Amino acid sequence: MWYMNDERQLILDAAREFVRTEVAPHALEVDRTSRFPVELFHRAGELGLLGLTIPEEFGGSGVDQTASALVLEEIATSMPVLTVAMGAHALLAGGLLQMLGTPEQKKTWLVPAASGEIILACGSTEAVGGDNQVEFATRAVLDGEEWVLNGGKVLISNIGVADMYVVVAVTADHVDPVTKAGLSAFIVPAGTAGLNVGAAEHKLGWHGSATGSIWFDAARIPKENLLGPEGGCLQAMFVSASAEFLSCGPVSLGIAEGAYRAALDYSTTRTQQGHTLFERFQVTRHKLARMYGEIESLRALVYSTYAERDRGELELARSRLLKIKGAEVSEYVGREAIQLFGGVGTIIDTGVERYWRDAKVMAIGGASVEALNDVVAGLIARGMA
Ligand SMILES: Cc1cc2nc3c(=O)[nH]c(=O)nc-3n(C[C@H](O)[C@H](O)[C@H](O)COP(=O)(O)OP(=O)(O)OC[C@H]3O[C@@H](n4cnc5c(N)ncnc54)[C@H](O)[C@@H]3O)c2cc1C
Repeated sequence: MWYMNDERQLILDAAREFVRTEVAPHALEVDRTSRFPVELFHRAGELGLLGLTIPEEFGGSGVDQTASALVLEEIATSMPVLTVAMGAHALLAGGLLQMLGTPEQKKTWLVPAASGEIILACGSTEAVGGDNQVEFATRAVLDGEEWVLNGGKVLISNIGVADMYVVVAVTADHVDPVTKAGLSAFIVPAGTAGLNVGAAEHKLGWHGSATGSIWFDAARIPKENLLGPEGGCLQAMFVSASAEFLSCGPVSLGIAEGAYRAALDYSTTRTQQGHTLFERFQVTRHKLARMYGEIESLRALVYSTYAERDRGELELARSRLLKIKGAEVSEYVGREAIQLFGGVGTIIDTGVERYWRDAKVMAIGGASVEALNDVVAGLIARGMA
């Protein structure tokens, strides 16, 4: 592949071995039980796979973005939900720490996060306003040497297993509808009195990502736990969200590949009247050819976009396109894979339908594709895409 080099190949080989020997044996069990794969998470940290995008001075690997995409793609072929937990940890919460944290905050939280010693979560979405920050109702008020938090967040990944939550709250009378000034980020350690953590929701896909609500009843945290400037965390939120949208490209690519490989394997081994399904039915061959074509088109988009990112030339619309196109392709390939399996494709233990369920959540989690298309349309209108 044109985007490979020796360093990236080494990192990919390590990720491949991790997936083959440690991730794949647990993929079905995690999907069936919705158990957060905590040991795999820590192991990914030990192998340096959690801190790929974190600079070396803060315990990360400091490799380029393309290398991190290769790792995400590889893991997602087997256990997409692990990459989702990694994204909430390293890109959302870790990204805000990296951009807004003081050297002391980075030492305390980012360094152990990079090595997988601790798990991070990021709480932004709210029940009423969704991801529209102007309507956020979670508030933080300074009382002497402490911030007092009240309110709540919904649909937060890594709840319960997280050692620390980066939480976005309103610290002004209102959030400015244009500049969004008035929002601040906070470090809220697990176990803080007044921080309540709900049970993980039962979801369509991303089983095991421990998604649910957290809420604050006068939760008090030290003044120093403000992350970044008071009232001014929006730009960093925007950048960390963009990194997460970008990562949805290789994750979706991995999901599509996982489903495609399973379907190809099944179609070339299941026989009817002495012939495999692949040999017997032109429609089976054509479905697989189209799935392959969609995957390769997505691959071209993903790695050309990551190349732009590594050159520092990424345009705003591109990261959103990766999430939009990735969700579309992975949903399509996942759906067709079930169809090619026939009846057994609908059985959970077969292990193929989970790709389609995970792909469906890709179209919503983090931001809906409709909302992202709306942003892209706005960029087109302003001549920025
Ligand atoms: C599994 C999972 C994990 C998540 N993890 C986290 C997390 O770790 N941290 C966190 O803060 N949040 C998290 N979220 C929340 C996620 O970011 C939101 O669900 C997402 O942004 C959509 O917001 P909403 O659910 O409020 O939907 P709404 O905003 O209510 O939107 C509902 C629907 O309305 C339409 N719509 C909404 N806005 C627009 C628009 N601008 N243009 C066109 N159509 C629109 C779309 O069809 C959309 O699907 C997670 C969500 C899921 C499902």
